Amino acid sequence: MTGLPIPAADRLTRRQRQGWDCVWCGTSLWSGAVLAGRAEGSVGAVDLSIDVYACPRCARLHIPQHVTQGDSK
Ligand SMILES: [Zn+2]
Repeated sequence: MTGLPIPAADRLTRRQRQGWDCVWCGTSLWSGAVLAGRAEGSVGAVDLSIDVYACPRCARLHIPQHVTQGDSK
């Protein structure tokens, strides 16, 4: 399975940048947020790169190396 790239930082909503919404599907992360990785981007000289979070469902689908609790492999 191939992972889905993390969207560019300048494409994210403010809530996604804050880690309140899933970086991929935009659902509110009220529990179980998983660190998705780092969204890269910049506007002019301003570096917008930031760590972003995903819901458990997207993490399972889009982060190849992500292992959820309960996986036995
Ligand atoms: Zn999601």
